[in-house]
Amino acid sequence: MKKFLSILLFSIFIAACSVSPQAPASNTDKDTITTTFSVLNDVVKNIAPANFEVKSLMGVGLDPHAYAPTPSDIKLLSSSDMVFALGLDLEASMNTLLDSLSNSKPVLKVGESLDESKLIAAEEDVKLYDPHVWFDVDLWKDVSFSVKNTLLDYYPEQELEINTNFENYLSQLNDLDLYVDSKMQELPIENRILVTAHDAFSYFAKKYDFELYTLQGISTESDYSIKDLNDIVDTIVSKKVKSIFTESSVSKQAILTIQEKANEADLEVKIGGELYSDSLGDIGSIHESYVDTFKHNVDIVVNNLK
Ligand SMILES: [Zn+2]
Repeated sequence: MKKFLSILLFSIFIAACSVSPQAPASNTDKDTITTTFSVLNDVVKNIAPANFEVKSLMGVGLDPHAYAPTPSDIKLLSSSDMVFALGLDLEASMNTLLDSLSNSKPVLKVGESLDESKLIAAEEDVKLYDPHVWFDVDLWKDVSFSVKNTLLDYYPEQELEINTNFENYLSQLNDLDLYVDSKMQELPIENRILVTAHDAFSYFAKKYDFELYTLQGISTESDYSIKDLNDIVDTIVSKKVKSIFTESSVSKQAILTIQEKANEADLEVKIGGELYSDSLGDIGSIHESYVDTFKHNVDIVVNNLK
């Protein structure tokens, strides 16, 4: 079905290009950079010069693993001057489309510019990496560096503004690093058990010494069995986990089912709140930036597990 959708979308893409090859990206005179999802949009928007309009294909709360672009998305991509994607199979339904676009414009998959030795393998014996690199602030600094260098390659005349923007963003990430290190000191190592719906937090868990339990795999498209469910319930009951967490871009049902089963086994486990995993918060809210969503995640995890 996915393959069929990809072929269908590719056909729409070709049709969009042939009907309107010079379609303006917007009503402004600005050049347009389009990013695939909101977390990536944050870094590009912060570093790109002011004469660029930086758009996000996916709105907040949408799931990049399952997202299939609409005809209007394809029009936007085809009229953009540059496209940034995360890659590493995060935007799995868009691979064919992104590859086609790269014949006519720069399409940068920033996750694939990272040092492979810093990435976590998605599956044993398969050369696939976990794409959720934004949960390691150091890796996100590397992504920022890559975005900066790419912009400098294509727009060297704007070096001063790009470098200044990059330094400002990097300084925010350094402050975030300090904040997280300090907040984590409130949470004893034995309480660092994180239960979420899908497997987005491996980089976070590795960096901050959490045991991680999830029902779904790295992609939200993966399924789970009754045995998977029972195993996770047994684990949280035996470890007396205080709280488990839903995610803003993933169905809450799996986590609610775990809570119900744990309650039946006499463990009063709370829903500790909603984590931002694969999306930032609403535009205009206090969680609309990468830094703010990361702080929110750390705050609710620490406050509900300690
Ligand atoms: Zn994910």
